[in-house]
Amino acid sequence: MLELQLYNSLTRKKELFVPLDSDHVRIYACGPTVYSYAHIGNARMAVVFDLLSRMLRKIYPKVTYVSNITDVDDKIIEASQKTGEPIKTITEKYTRIYNEDMSALGVNLPDIQSKATEHIGEMIVLIEALIKRGHAYESDGHVLFNVPSFPAYGGLSGRSRDEQIAGARVEIASYKKDPADFVLWKPSSDNEPGWNSPWDVNNGRGRPGWHIECSAMAEKHLGLPFDIHGGGVDLKFPHHENEIAQSCCAHGELNDLASFSKYWVHNGFLTVNGEKMSKSLGNFLLVHDLIKQIPGEALRLTLLSAHYRQPLDWSEDKVSQSKRMLDRFYHRLNQMNDMVSEKTDVPDAVYSALLDDLNTPKAIAALNSLLKTQNSPELKGQLLAAGELLGLLQEKPKEWLGYETNIDIDVDIALIETLLQERKKARSNKDFVRSDEIRDELLTQGIEIEDTKDGAKWRKVN
Ligand code: AMP
Ligand code: ZN
Repeated sequence: MLELQLYNSLTRKKELFVPLDSDHVRIYACGPTVYSYAHIGNARMAVVFDLLSRMLRKIYPKVTYVSNITDVDDKIIEASQKTGEPIKTITEKYTRIYNEDMSALGVNLPDIQSKATEHIGEMIVLIEALIKRGHAYESDGHVLFNVPSFPAYGGLSGRSRDEQIAGARVEIASYKKDPADFVLWKPSSDNEPGWNSPWDVNNGRGRPGWHIECSAMAEKHLGLPFDIHGGGVDLKFPHHENEIAQSCCAHGELNDLASFSKYWVHNGFLTVNGEKMSKSLGNFLLVHDLIKQIPGEALRLTLLSAHYRQPLDWSEDKVSQSKRMLDRFYHRLNQMNDMVSEKTDVPDAVYSALLDDLNTPKAIAALNSLLKTQNSPELKGQLLAAGELLGLLQEKPKEWLGYETNIDIDVDIALIETLLQERKKARSNKDFVRSDEIRDELLTQGIEIEDTKDGAKWRKVN
């Protein structure tokens, strides 16, 4: 069973994924604007599309995954004015940090990480095509996309015209023919980044609006149409709606929204303790800080603990649960350290859950169920194969469990002894399920059991 089902935001249905070319699957996801550290919400997008590309690579012989870096944007200009650092210094620094932080979460680099500033020529060509076909116009040094020229506009988000206008940037500027029109190109002052274009006013320079970069880069690196376009659900409107408008209209495809990307996949939003992350609430969780305190795999598992389309509410509790769950897996892997793992595929229950629209909660539950079986080369192989697909269990068990360190913790010796007695009894009754349960339960309290010829011994692991 190798059939991947994906929820397509464009058709609002879960569909069988049928690639345009089964020899080469092509996917694009909107990446970060690099003017500051990435927060854990940005990481959700990176982890979800990393997992989707891992799944696609498992099924298809060739996958190209493109994700962009927005390195020209008003927020970057503001950051540069505030800090006095040149724009390029800021964007290069935060691109590097973004990649390091995501790598700590087990996110592989996309095959192509395209930068907006390296594709200005392609954007200009696309804007010229839009002007030529009557979908864009020059006004006061700006070039705007004329929304009423594309009657199918709104097809992805389902927003009515009134909602589109309300949701468009508030600047219902005098240079717009229609309040829903959006900027493709705008003039730059001397201290703003700029490039020459056919729309120079007084020999001035200009820069692209945000939306055009993704239309230009997806087309250049993947060709049109491509298979999957992704990003956070916040991008559905206006960003993705505008990408569709630009790319369909530039190629005269006014009636076929799927002529840009066939499937649209959106990850749900991440909140922190029930609230939207915001700097003023002090709940703005940066990946850069979190990875100093919590192992990356525990963060990744927490991000995968909810289905990707559902909202995910982040809390310390959830992170601790994930850490404890990983402790249990590593504990078992540690016990099997000397076994040669049997070469095996991802267990069916894990794989089929992921094939069903990346149902990670179900896949993780299936992974947990494996722990009910006894240690064996097969179990080791299964855990490692599933872990590789999910981007988990990639650490050395001994290092994860901190064997070398000797952190002092309070232990309830009486409780440990009682549980060890119960476990001994369970083992003599050949009730290995209960025996393993007790071992796992103790592990969650930082106590590891080792069976020796002199009976069970315990020690603190962290
Ligand atoms: P940005 O740098 O804000 O353009 O965001 C980069 C990516 O992260 C986009 O795909 C966004 O949709 C996604 N994203 C931003 N904030 C969140 C959040 N709180 N939860 C989930 N995804 C988010
Ligand atoms: Zn985009």
